Amino acid sequence: MNFSDLALAEPIARALNEKGYAAPSPIQAAAIPPALAGHDVLGLAQTGTGKTAAFALPMLHRLAADPKHRIKMNTRALVLAPTRELASQIAASFQAYGKYMRLSVAVVFGGVPIGRQERALAPGVDVLVATPGRLLDLVMKGACDLGRVEMLVLDECDQMLDLGFIHDLKRITGLLPKQRQSMLFSATLAPAIEQLAERYLKSPVKVAV
Ligand code: AMP
Repeated sequence: MNFSDLALAEPIARALNEKGYAAPSPIQAAAIPPALAGHDVLGLAQTGTGKTAAFALPMLHRLAADPKHRIKMNTRALVLAPTRELASQIAASFQAYGKYMRLSVAVVFGGVPIGRQERALAPGVDVLVATPGRLLDLVMKGACDLGRVEMLVLDECDQMLDLGFIHDLKRITGLLPKQRQSMLFSATLAPAIEQLAERYLKSPVKVAV
């Protein structure tokens, strides 16, 4: 399979070409077509497999295909990740793959002053990458409204559970519209992950590498 077979929006294809990506990795080849078709996805994949692009590319495609005005304090796509390092990497990937789009990406995580993050979210963004605790702090302060999220990703879900984020995840997902596309990525399919998948995903396509 080639990236051209995926028929991604032209600005995305251009960014991939420039990055020198020749072909989709196995997780990308498996996850991107169902995600582009609007299905929920349950992905079993480790870091290093290209899983970030497996969710970022279809999300960017949807944003490119259906541009909308930003709404104050809102985000269209929400990615939750366990650590600030991973959240920063994911945000950098969205920036890189979306460099030829009109795209606003924000990343928020704990352990740093919250004021700058509040200001970054104020005009509304297209993609918000967040660790769960800091996201809830921002929601409580009224700096962030999750009521119009169209796409959700839970990345490294097993690690988020290990770090004790389950209650935060429940609270966050409770604030999201029911009508949305959701993707869950995890290195393992432990029973707790299966339960989360059952609760948060609708008839997901399962992909594993
Ligand atoms: P990830 O598993 O998402 O952390 O990605 C691992 C690394 O692979 C990152 O440095 C990506 O830039 C790179 N990568 C992802 N997809 C591809 C691809 N299709 N071809 C070449 N490199 C890729």
